[in-house]
Amino acid sequence: MTDDDADSTSDGTPGEPLRYDQARWTEDADTYEPLLAEKTLDTVDVDSPLPDELTRETLELPALAEPELARHYTRLSAMNYGVESGPVPLGSCTMKHNPAFIEDVAATPAGLVHPDRVGETVQGTLELLYRLQDYLGRIGGMDAVTLQPPAGAAGEFTGIRIARAFHRADGDERSEVLIPDSAHGTNFASAAMAGYDVVTLPSGEDGRVDLDALEAALSGETAALMLTNPNTLGLFERDIRDIAEMVHDVGGLLYYDGANLNALLGRARPGDMGFDVMHYNVHKTFATPHGGGGPGAGPVGVTDDLARFLPDPHVRKTDGRYERYTPEGTIGKVHGYEGNWLVLVKAFAYIARLGDAGLADASAKAVLNANYLAERIDYEVPFGPFHHEFVASAGETDAADVAKRMLDYGVHPPTTKWPEIVDEALMTEPTESESKRTLDQLTAAFDAARGDDEAARADAPERTAARRIDQVAAARNPRLSWQALEDV
Ligand SMILES: *Cc1c(COP(=O)(O)O)cnc(C)c1O
Repeated sequence: MTDDDADSTSDGTPGEPLRYDQARWTEDADTYEPLLAEKTLDTVDVDSPLPDELTRETLELPALAEPELARHYTRLSAMNYGVESGPVPLGSCTMKHNPAFIEDVAATPAGLVHPDRVGETVQGTLELLYRLQDYLGRIGGMDAVTLQPPAGAAGEFTGIRIARAFHRADGDERSEVLIPDSAHGTNFASAAMAGYDVVTLPSGEDGRVDLDALEAALSGETAALMLTNPNTLGLFERDIRDIAEMVHDVGGLLYYDGANLNALLGRARPGDMGFDVMHYNVHKTFATPHGGGGPGAGPVGVTDDLARFLPDPHVRKTDGRYERYTPEGTIGKVHGYEGNWLVLVKAFAYIARLGDAGLADASAKAVLNANYLAERIDYEVPFGPFHHEFVASAGETDAADVAKRMLDYGVHPPTTKWPEIVDEALMTEPTESESKRTLDQLTAAFDAARGDDEAARADAPERTAARRIDQVAAARNPRLSWQALEDV
């Protein structure tokens, strides 16, 4: 198929949305593919060399032949939806395509080196880590990078602790971290967990940092200002140099939430804007799988002034050899060894394959796709022009209902109801991976979901394997094993 086959008409109106029917295997309307334990349980005798008091005599285990087992998981995957089923335009989450070759690279035997091997015998492993530190440093304009933190939020926590260590080294105890109201929820949590009082800054009328509010909030108590730029509305903070100067004037540090670098890759660098510390999410920007909550990696970059506080160990190159060492003022460990090694291998492979030109091309397409979609959908899209994402408003319509209905049109909905500064927000990030054809299908799904009658939306999704679930109960009372299910 070429772009000419796209579901759009020449006058620019989107065509019909896809009709999506998700697979489902069921014995009656309320059941799904049974759990393995529900299919068949066998009691097996346990014969173990361990002491008796530590072992059971029998164990109940599912007993299925290989085809049944294979079908079970294949069915579950068909009842699921992922980035290989269709677009997942979750704003802020950056669900781009994870190219298959990174899995091949990670599957090489060299991927399986034991982390306790002494450095002299694993020079290749250390070289890869060193070069990834270097790549990320150059991408972000940072002098040193740790790969240890296992997620973006862990990166924030690490970065804020580094900021605190930096101040404390001067006997300077500060109590506040400033965060704009449009920031990701983890920013508030990370600063609070690191022991700071969080001061929330209201956004200005244009969706950017309000300089007067910033001025009023800054003081000798300000340890750091945490910023996302472009912010979660997809807007670039034009006054970033003034902001950096204002924060530095009171002795504070500027923290960059670089979870999503898609708008900046190969084009602009936080370090050049005056940021002192930042984190990266390799599972967003650098195409490693999000993997259902992990493992991920949230490397942290810092300027020279902060490098001595980095987590232990760090990798450096001395006289042509790579070695681990303990930075002199280290905040300690934030993860075992050098971090989630295989995830880091994948990020390395992705960056090395794309190179400077490829990364810049990815950001150009990410920005083009976001602006194209924002322009096409029949929604109010306040603010703009945008970078890699935008926030549409469903206006009088409930954004969650729109999102549920979009599932029936074969696309994953955007992030809903956040940031709160836009009414009934649909925060959307198509990423560079999607073709014009897919963007047109997304447009059709957006418009159809909002155009449907209210009853259809309230009852949606109708054509997915699982209908509308009780989200509050699912979040508050998760049942994560078959035993938990049996206890009900
Ligand atoms: C995803 C995200 C984070 C948190 O990253 P995790 O890896 O999910 O912990 C932080 N900030 C922004 C802007 C994000 O989009």
